[in-house]
Amino acid sequence: MKCARCGGSGFYTRQYSGETLCKSCFTQSIVEKARRTISRYRMIRPGEKVAVAVSGGKDSLSLLKVLTELYAGRRNPLVAISIDEGVAGYRDEAIEHAGRLTRELGVQHVTLSYKELFGFSLDEALDWKEERDVSSCSFCGVFRRRAIDEAASRVQASLVATAHNLDDYVQTFMLNLMHGDVARLGWLDPAYADDSFPVRRVKPFMEIYEAEVALFAYQTGVPFQSVSCPYMHEGLRSEVRDYLNLLESNHPGIKNVMFRSSLDVVSHYARAPEKGTVPCSRCGKPSSAGLCSVCRMKVAVEEHTRLL
Ligand code: SF4
Ligand code: ZN
Repeated sequence: MKCARCGGSGFYTRQYSGETLCKSCFTQSIVEKARRTISRYRMIRPGEKVAVAVSGGKDSLSLLKVLTELYAGRRNPLVAISIDEGVAGYRDEAIEHAGRLTRELGVQHVTLSYKELFGFSLDEALDWKEERDVSSCSFCGVFRRRAIDEAASRVQASLVATAHNLDDYVQTFMLNLMHGDVARLGWLDPAYADDSFPVRRVKPFMEIYEAEVALFAYQTGVPFQSVSCPYMHEGLRSEVRDYLNLLESNHPGIKNVMFRSSLDVVSHYARAPEKGTVPCSRCGKPSSAGLCSVCRMKVAVEEHTRLL
């Protein structure tokens, strides 16, 4: 098959559109797709400093590459921020990859660790977590969101770009339904802005399949990690991910249809719930009950550690 854009030798066919592309047009199409998403949802305004959340995995390194291509030499300065959760043998390699790519691209790179911010690493905290009915990723996610906000504030960025892709979006939509968290669907609206937090979150890859991001990474020489987080297979998300992948292989394009439907639901029918406005009594960040979720978990981990 020939490339639909340049007539060169076809290498990839997009199942949901039927479009066949050569290697170079495919790579360019990912940059273009991200550019269109940014512009469609007005994610990045002229002059804003963008913090790119770079975990060091293939998705976030690809995002950094794409944003560097779109913004290098323009008025929007970029800075890469990495969070070291403290997972022995896993995050060190990722942060090394991130360091190498940021040096290559000439992008400032700032790393912040859970240990430095909260006083414990994820490995240490999970000893406490084991007694609770919460998955490691949900637990980790609460601290990670705070750490990303903190890192972005320290580098004075107006917004954080994360590498969440179309698959992540559909999974989160389904997980919210499965957990009965219908109210949270409103937060998935790309137009939703949470004024109680100093930095906005944007997802320039939200309209791109995870498999296409992986292909982009492979084609552009982004390093792949040799180990994955030992905690990632816990919880419902990995089951939902497997199920969606099975559906996609039996019905090519179905994830794209589900993404469009989810977007339609959140933008027309869901309303984001009010975020807490009471300052947390420990850290001063917005909370709904006087103690924010980060401090609530932090207090419990500290108490548990004291009792050991
Ligand atoms: Fe944290 Fe889960 Fe990511 Fe591991 S996979 S770093 S536990 S969010
Ligand atoms: Zn707090």
